Amino acid sequence: MNNTTTSIDFANLPMAYEEHKEELDYAIAGVLKNANYIMGEPVRELEEKLEKFTGAKYAISCSSGTDALLLALMAIDIQPGDQVITTPFTFIATAETIAFLKAKPVFVDIEEETYNIDPSKIEDKITPRTKAIIPVSIFGQVPDMDRINEVAAKHNLFVIEDAAQSFGATYKGKRSCSLSTFACTSFFPAKPLGCFGDGGAVFTSDERFAKKMKSMRLHGQTERYFHKYIGMGGRLDTLQAAVLNVKMNYYEKDIKNRQRVAEEYTNILKDIVVVPIVAAGNSSVWAQYSIRVKNREEVVAKLKEAGIPTAVHYPRPLHLQECFEYINHTEGEFPITEKISNEILSLPMNPYITKKEIQFISKHIKTAII
Ligand SMILES: *Cc1c(COP(=O)(O)O)cnc(C)c1O
Repeated sequence: MNNTTTSIDFANLPMAYEEHKEELDYAIAGVLKNANYIMGEPVRELEEKLEKFTGAKYAISCSSGTDALLLALMAIDIQPGDQVITTPFTFIATAETIAFLKAKPVFVDIEEETYNIDPSKIEDKITPRTKAIIPVSIFGQVPDMDRINEVAAKHNLFVIEDAAQSFGATYKGKRSCSLSTFACTSFFPAKPLGCFGDGGAVFTSDERFAKKMKSMRLHGQTERYFHKYIGMGGRLDTLQAAVLNVKMNYYEKDIKNRQRVAEEYTNILKDIVVVPIVAAGNSSVWAQYSIRVKNREEVVAKLKEAGIPTAVHYPRPLHLQECFEYINHTEGEFPITEKISNEILSLPMNPYITKKEIQFISKHIKTAII
């Protein structure tokens, strides 16, 4: 690394393989040898690990975070015309799955500090058609789940945590994925805990829902070729489970390193840009480390010139997406979401970034901001 350019990897997935190459290769070869590609023993082994780690009674692995959301929504029997409250500041899948079932995503603006759904604005949006709330633990930290659960209980609604970015995070000493009736996470490669392709899991402590989702993930079958529900082909590959079983053994260490990187960024950057804030009672797994800048395009270009990759999560809020034009939202309806969408900028985040690299990145940010 010289003084003017560098090659910093945004998520550094190659390193995540290299670091545990031998163990990962061995685990993968084991699956190939047994040829137990579908619902092999590593799948159940992983689910037990996920249950132990999160404290949720049941972890049901599945094919992606998106399918985890679908399984939860199908488990509570979401019908066309139902309404589900969520945030417009999230990845499309959160609202897409609601709309996929012909229900209506009802958006609530976010908090300016955490970028999570503002619990004080939820109750206004509840109607007789409201069935559930999907709070998203954006960028790796959980929203105020006590308040959200309280509103939900008062109005008899289900809460589904979209924990695609927060697996491993804590809220008041408890893990993300154990804080509401349902939680959904993703093992997409670039998530804090990623596999080598698509993967996900849905969590619940309700035995009845667990049974239903286990069945729905296997085409709604109760036994082979006997189908109780309309379900889906939503299994996690045995290969991905085997990879995750290895990666789970080192995940606590990865979280600590992500937290170290975030802390070092914040120490250097806090006086020059808006840095992310972790709410009291929370710990984040830093799915993203995102700052806010006024001249984003310029900053992105200057960092790129220095070999520093960045990303924007997310440039267009969901209420202004073309696919949701039919809901007839207009610009200005969710002012905090819109403001953050214009300013947010994610910096390289992975467990392997060195202090020197963080200093290098920060130096270039300092010269790029207005
Ligand atoms: C990644 C993500 C999803 C979808 O997960 P996939 O595994 O990619 O299907 C859903 N919600 C949020 C907030 C995400 O970040």
